[in-house]
Amino acid sequence: MSMFQRTAIALARSPGVGRAMRAMAARTPLAARFVGGADVDAAVRTAVRLREAHGIRASLFYLGEYVDDPEAIEHNVAQAVGACQALDLAGLDVHVSVDPTAIGYMRDDALGQANARRIGLAVRRPVGLGRDWMVLDMEDSSICDRTCALHRELLQAGVPAGLTLQAQRRRTPEDLAWAIRQRTSLRLVKGAFPERALDHHGRARIDQAYLDAASIMLSREALQSGFQPVFGTHDDRLAGVIMEMARERGWPPQAFEFEMLYGVRPDWQLALRRLGYNVRVYLPFGGDWWPYAVRRVGENPRNAWLLARTLTSD
Ligand code: FAD
Repeated sequence: MSMFQRTAIALARSPGVGRAMRAMAARTPLAARFVGGADVDAAVRTAVRLREAHGIRASLFYLGEYVDDPEAIEHNVAQAVGACQALDLAGLDVHVSVDPTAIGYMRDDALGQANARRIGLAVRRPVGLGRDWMVLDMEDSSICDRTCALHRELLQAGVPAGLTLQAQRRRTPEDLAWAIRQRTSLRLVKGAFPERALDHHGRARIDQAYLDAASIMLSREALQSGFQPVFGTHDDRLAGVIMEMARERGWPPQAFEFEMLYGVRPDWQLALRRLGYNVRVYLPFGGDWWPYAVRRVGENPRNAWLLARTLTSD
C-alpha cells in the first residue's frame, strides 16, 4: 500500500474531518464523481440515466458500514429495502449490495440474519428475471466465515443472495468450489482488506490468484449449474484474459458481468459495453459519502484534484 493510499485512509477514518465533510452538501466535486445521489430517489435517477444512455446496470449500496447502534442499523435496512422498492418501480434490476456489518452483525448474528432476510424478501419479485440479487459484500476476516454462512442460509431460504469473494484471500478457491455449484451470483474482487497472515501479497501474486479464481468461475461445471460469474475489477488486462477464457469455454457474453465502481474508469465501462459485455456499476448513495469517496482518491493519485477542489470549495 502506497504512502498516498495510507494518507487517504487516515483522512477517511478521521472523525473530525468526516463530521465537517458530512455537513457539506453531498454534491461536492468528490461526491458527485463517486456517489450516485444523496438519497434513494437521486440514486435511482442516476441508475435510470446509466441504463437508458449506455445500457449499464446498477447495484445500489447505501453508505454506512461497521454500525452497532440499533437505530442506525434499522435505518440502513430501511434504506436497502426502500432501494429495492424504488428499483422495482423504475423497472430496473432489483439489485442491491449489502455490508453485513451495516445491518446488525456488529451487535449479534441473529439480528443480522433477520435483517438480511428482510432485504432479501424485498429483492424477490414474483417473476424472477435472473438479474435481481442482494449481493453480500465481503469485509475483513473477522466477518468472513459469518458472511459465507449467511450466504448459504439465504440461498437455502430461497432468497436470491449473491456473495463477494476476495482473490487475495488464500481460502477463496475453497469458498468458490461450493459456490459454483449453486444458482447464485458470485462477484470476484481483488480485495480491499489486506491481512498479512491470510492473504497473497504483491500485485503479480494477487493478479494471478484473481485469474486462477476466474478460471474456476468459468469452468464447465459452473456453466451448467446456472451460476452467474461477476468480475468486479477495473483492471483491463485481467478483463482481457477473462474475455478470452470465457470465449474459449463457451460462455456467452450475456452469461457473466463485469462490475465497476460508479465514477471509476467510466471510459472503460463504455468500451466494454461497446464490445457487447454486460457492465454493472456499484452505485453508492446516502449522506455518509466522505469515507467511501476519499478511499477512491487513495486508489489513484490522479483523483487528488477532486479532493483539492472539495476541500477548497465553499
Ligand atoms: P487495480 O489494480 O487496483 O486497478 C486497475 C486499474 O483501475 C488501474 O489502472 C487503477 O489505476 C484503476 N483504478 C482503480 N481504482 C481507481 C479509482 N478509484 N480511480 C481511478 N482509477 C482507479 N473489496 C472488498 O474487499 N470487498 C468487497 O466487497 C468489494 N466489493 C467491490 C465491488 C466492486 C463492484 C468493485 C469494482 C470493487 C470492490 N471491492 C471490494 C474493491 C476491490 O477489492 C479492489 O480493492 C478495487 O476494485 C481495486 O482493484 P482493481 O481490480 O480495480 O485493480
